[in-house]
Amino acid sequence: MAALIPYHDRDGWIWYDGEMVPWRDAQLHVLSHGLHYGSSVFEGERAYGGKVFKLREHSQRLIDSGRILGFELPYSVEQLDEATNTTIAKNGLSDCYVRPVAWRGSEMMGVAAQASKIHVAIAVWEWGAYYSDLRLTRAIYDRPAPNTAPVHAKAAGLYMICTICKHAAEAKGFGDALMLDYRGYVAETTGANIFLGIGGKLHTPVADCILNGITRRTVIDLAKARGIEVVERHIMPAELETAQEIFVTGTAAEITPVRAIDALTYQVGPITKQLLDDFHAATRGVQKVAA
Ligand code: PMP
Repeated sequence: MAALIPYHDRDGWIWYDGEMVPWRDAQLHVLSHGLHYGSSVFEGERAYGGKVFKLREHSQRLIDSGRILGFELPYSVEQLDEATNTTIAKNGLSDCYVRPVAWRGSEMMGVAAQASKIHVAIAVWEWGAYYSDLRLTRAIYDRPAPNTAPVHAKAAGLYMICTICKHAAEAKGFGDALMLDYRGYVAETTGANIFLGIGGKLHTPVADCILNGITRRTVIDLAKARGIEVVERHIMPAELETAQEIFVTGTAAEITPVRAIDALTYQVGPITKQLLDDFHAATRGVQKVAA
């Protein structure tokens, strides 16, 4: 395995509270509220050919996630878009991953933190495929109910159970965990939404307690444009046996075919292949040649 390059020890520039700072200087105090109490929200974006796919939607979701956690980002959606583009250009990147993050600072310690400063940073780096030859196993935690956690925010705290589940899956030799929701329905992986191809239709969980991914919505639109029926509904785990093809979607994951879920195995089917092509064209802005 290639040696890990720690993320704190790299070259480049990070946009930090409105300033461009050298990568290694983008630090925060240990008494930051975001670290102790999880008052932090973030985004994951991808740029293709220097242009972030669905940038406006991501910047808006960052602001919305902060509001769900009770804080207002000190930047508008336009300012976040511009800061993102400036950071990509300053780092001389074209195809890259983008990680904006917003968190409560160190002005107050304790559960209440009304007077804390809201910080925002944006980092970018080259990041290849998120998954390879993806095999999933059932997760050890469920997605929480909407009345027990801010499930529609992309909030750092929600990823606590994701990291535990993903580590448990990796320890068993799997690529990721398939999480069920609090009712026992199929939900999502620790970082991507899931789609099942059953009898020529695409089935995907209702986004009522999972992240309604921007890639998820893109794929639904692409499928509909191809005349593929998309059914958003509650899916029981037993139905995984009835699927002919399964894939996951996410900014980092893009569209990744699922090869297995525990003992069940899947082929890369025709719907997946079609949508892989269409997603590639959409993200790279490629004009499709009529078949
Ligand atoms: N679910 C979870 C838990 C995620 O972390 C992600 C990645 N942000 C997604 C779904 C997919 O969301 P998106 O397509 O907006 O990246």
